[in-house]
Amino acid sequence: MYSILDKEIQYIKGVGPKKADKMSRLGIFTIRDALYYFPRQFEDRSIEKQIMAITDGEKVTIKGRIKKISNKRINRLDITEITVEDETGTISLIFFNKSYLKNTYRVNDAIRSFGTVKKTEYGRLEMHNCEIEYERLIKNVGAIIPVYKLSNGVTNKDVMGVVRNIFDTSEVKIKEYLPMELVDKHRLCDINFAIKSMHFPTDKQSVQIAMYRLIFEELYFLQLGLFSIKGGNEIKSGINFNISGKIDKIIRELPFSLTRSQKKALDEILGDMNSNRVMNRLVQGDVGSGKTVVAQLSLANCVFNGYQGAYMAPTEILAKQHFESFSEFFAGSDVKIELLTSSTTKKNNMRILESLENGDIDILIGTHSLIEDKVKFNHLGLVITDEQHRFGVRQRGKLSSKAENPDVLVMTATPIPRTLALILYGDLDISVIDELPPGRKPIETLAIKKNARGKLYKNNIRKEIEKGHQVYVVCPLVDESEVLDVSSATEVYEELSHRYFPDLKVGILHGKMKNSEKDDIMEAFKRGDIDILVSTTVIEVGVNVPNATVMIIENAERFGLAQLHQLRGRVGRGKEQSFCVLIYDSNNEVALERMKTMESSNDGFVLAEKDLSIRGPGDFFGTRQHGLPELMVANLLKHSKMLKIAQKEARLTYANDPSLSEEKNRGVKDKVEYMFRDIGYNMSI
Ligand code: ADP
Ligand code: MG
Repeated sequence: MYSILDKEIQYIKGVGPKKADKMSRLGIFTIRDALYYFPRQFEDRSIEKQIMAITDGEKVTIKGRIKKISNKRINRLDITEITVEDETGTISLIFFNKSYLKNTYRVNDAIRSFGTVKKTEYGRLEMHNCEIEYERLIKNVGAIIPVYKLSNGVTNKDVMGVVRNIFDTSEVKIKEYLPMELVDKHRLCDINFAIKSMHFPTDKQSVQIAMYRLIFEELYFLQLGLFSIKGGNEIKSGINFNISGKIDKIIRELPFSLTRSQKKALDEILGDMNSNRVMNRLVQGDVGSGKTVVAQLSLANCVFNGYQGAYMAPTEILAKQHFESFSEFFAGSDVKIELLTSSTTKKNNMRILESLENGDIDILIGTHSLIEDKVKFNHLGLVITDEQHRFGVRQRGKLSSKAENPDVLVMTATPIPRTLALILYGDLDISVIDELPPGRKPIETLAIKKNARGKLYKNNIRKEIEKGHQVYVVCPLVDESEVLDVSSATEVYEELSHRYFPDLKVGILHGKMKNSEKDDIMEAFKRGDIDILVSTTVIEVGVNVPNATVMIIENAERFGLAQLHQLRGRVGRGKEQSFCVLIYDSNNEVALERMKTMESSNDGFVLAEKDLSIRGPGDFFGTRQHGLPELMVANLLKHSKMLKIAQKEARLTYANDPSLSEEKNRGVKDKVEYMFRDIGYNMSI
């Protein structure tokens, strides 16, 4: 259906190419994109106070007359000071590099300003870089202001301006797309009211009413989309595996004894395999807790029952590492294991596909390559995905669709809250491995400022290498980025190999290298031929080199806690004491708190909770990393009650009209497709 909403925003009066370009950086291309680009939060600027009554640190609007305007330059900073008074006192509004203000305002002008109050040690009141407007022209001060998620070079005012321009174009009107029965049943407000209230909030109540509707529909569409990707979550019957007597024997012959929680997880898995319900189980275990051996034992049981197993890892490096570890695990048995990735040679690829289909291969390990259409199993019984958060919902589903109803196991080191697990996997069972193998020394973590970096490399790191140990150095970006001023892997590599360690072997690994190059480097590091491996986050998941005892993270302030913890988990895998050094270059409070938290805890679950409280649930469980569309208003943690309601409705809709082809669901179908557009999703596939 053609709609004005699908027109590019340049069509709107007052939006030129420059503004359109800015908006595109936020993923806004069409009028619809802009209308549905909802604010992340609202700032209440309606609280107005007299100057005498304001206190240090308070965010407030004040009203007064300009008493004095001055302008000076200190070093390269241009400082404009506007002194404002009301009947009760005076305050100084201080602006940096905004010298145009001295020509915009005159003494005696009536203004309003909004900002954070600062009280100097001499008791003077100031507001820095605050909002200021003429009393007679107020737009942004004194009201409730939408606060949008922004990106480089795009300001909140830019977004507000574009949305205002759209609403000034009177043709924009949205037709109700939810079935009327849903609107009535849940007392949802009109969609035009909802959208307008989000962008031009008049009072808190109308925002709440709007949010209620938008959260409902967002969760409803999300769930509907997921149902049609995965199918509803009816309980399916699966393979009835026996628990092979050989499993106990293998466990007894392992070079170590399983921890209590490894045993428990394995028992739960074998129990599921033994039942005639299909297994849908998530294994959560911190980095290094020993999930691999649990996967190996489960696959062994699958193979001993005469079925094939598949194991999918998110990166080539990991898949290869698992292939080696599996080969070792099954050495001496007649279990046939193969590795399939995008760098498998054509000849091997053909041979593998053929013997897989014949049933000659027992376990196939690989990357995304496993889900390609041409990969056909003969009698697939168990599917395992490692580090599942790296895969999208669709990819996981695709692997298990390679057999009738195989048992499914997903492994993750990232704790997932129950609500998110529910939406991602339906009625998923969870096993937790909550202890590390005995004898591990906790990793010592130290956060240092960037200026102590030289000394660190010259002294401490050199000493560690002289002891025969190896070191990882992780950097945030591959290429030099002047804008962000982040030390890139290549830059750090040059510096370390020439300046600090010309006598040692330094290697580099990043995502833009060819797979074969990556393999060579990783092999060399494992053999101990490389002393220091500089890398981007490709090293993040699962890599296991016990002789590496130091993890250095450059620009650590750029990473979230969960990721820092994953990276840290690359060391501390052997008997030696390991270290993690976080080099940071920021005075940002949140960043500093993160550094402190890392120093004080080694427990992934504790960190995940902490991460939540520092960043807010929206970021940590960022739906993106789970391969879901980004949510604009709903929050899977905060709105779990609404999620249940929306889930129930979605289940009903899906049961009655799975392809959403009934007339009353036409609008719903459009919306679901729009929501999943970035995932290449189309209802009619
Ligand atoms: P992750 O859970 O992060 O995938 P791995 O499975 O890679 O962890 O295990 C990390 C290391 O611990 C491996 O070298 C593995 O052999 C070893 N390991 C696993 N279980 C035990 C155990 N019960 N006792 C001692 N070492 C173990
Ligand atoms: Mg692992």
